[in-house]
Amino acid sequence: MILMDDIIREGHPTLRKIAEEVTFPLTDDERKLCNDLLEYIINSQDDELCERYGLRPGIGLAAPQVNVSKRIFALHIEEEEGKKPLSFVAINPKIVSHSVEKTYLISGEGCLSVDRDVDGFVPRYARITVKAFDPDGKEYKMRLKGLPAIAFQHELDHLNGIMFYDHIDVNAPFKVIPDATPLERD
Ligand SMILES: [Zn+2]
Repeated sequence: MILMDDIIREGHPTLRKIAEEVTFPLTDDERKLCNDLLEYIINSQDDELCERYGLRPGIGLAAPQVNVSKRIFALHIEEEEGKKPLSFVAINPKIVSHSVEKTYLISGEGCLSVDRDVDGFVPRYARITVKAFDPDGKEYKMRLKGLPAIAFQHELDHLNGIMFYDHIDVNAPFKVIPDATPLERD
């Protein structure tokens, strides 16, 4: 299983690379990686497992963050208590269309590869339509908004060597973002 020691941190060159497209069928290693990424995220949302394994909670993890420069990430988001979580692995993901409207998390974004708080608003598209492949090589299409849309864009950035704070205006981190509706994360 993936532990915090397996996650590379900012400054590591792999986090700045454009990750490679994945070909199908997946190798056994790639399939295992898909499972491991999703498993980390799910486990990291369990208080007991966090304590036992020293995990930091997250909602998404991308392959480059475990030093594998391939276009794969996993997301696991519980939006509402009692509702089925949004949980998936995305391979070769793409945004096929997006809203003009932007959004951002009022509390800012965090990252398992960044061991510090970085203040500031990170502008994201409020709504996106995405395409990706699952580990069986089946393509799927989804529409996302709110936190899942933000998380998808954060993880997709990792596949392109972009860190969330690259989007923050260093001179005015809390400046009003035009056409944006802020999002509160509970
Ligand atoms: Zn991240």
